[in-house]
Amino acid sequence: MKVYNFEKGAAPVNTDEMYMKEAYKLAQKAYEEDEVPIGAIIVSQGKIIGKGYNLTERLNDVTAHAEMQAFTAAANFLGGKYLKDCTLYVTVEPCVMCAGASYWTQISRIVYGAKDDKRGYSAISSHIIHPKTEIVGGVMESECAELMKRFFKSKR
Ligand SMILES: [Zn+2]
Repeated sequence: MKVYNFEKGAAPVNTDEMYMKEAYKLAQKAYEEDEVPIGAIIVSQGKIIGKGYNLTERLNDVTAHAEMQAFTAAANFLGGKYLKDCTLYVTVEPCVMCAGASYWTQISRIVYGAKDDKRGYSAISSHIIHPKTEIVGGVMESECAELMKRFFKSKR
């Protein structure tokens, strides 16, 4: 989705990229805390209603993925479990668990940064995603992938 700014000489503002930057900031926070650097936000009507970053180490909880926390926060904000008319921005392609959770939320859109060929849901099955959910991949792909690479390199 592109929003054009018609002021003279202004470049078009890409909304998806703008929100992905917010998710990326959370991924950087995870990186600084020595967590796998993945960040997520949920946007509804131009407003950020849920945020999360990976906390599996701090919480000793394999389910503490960025998306799971963002889903919970957004549902709390809305006072309902369904995330219709919402978009999830996440720096890395969701895993099967998070894609499965997104199915239950019936979220309208998922926008992700880097593809995850090993643990991404699409490596297993694209049917995990709700038929009403639109998927967009590859937004700020290189930045998001680079952060992951840097993290795993430092672990070797
Ligand atoms: Zn996940």
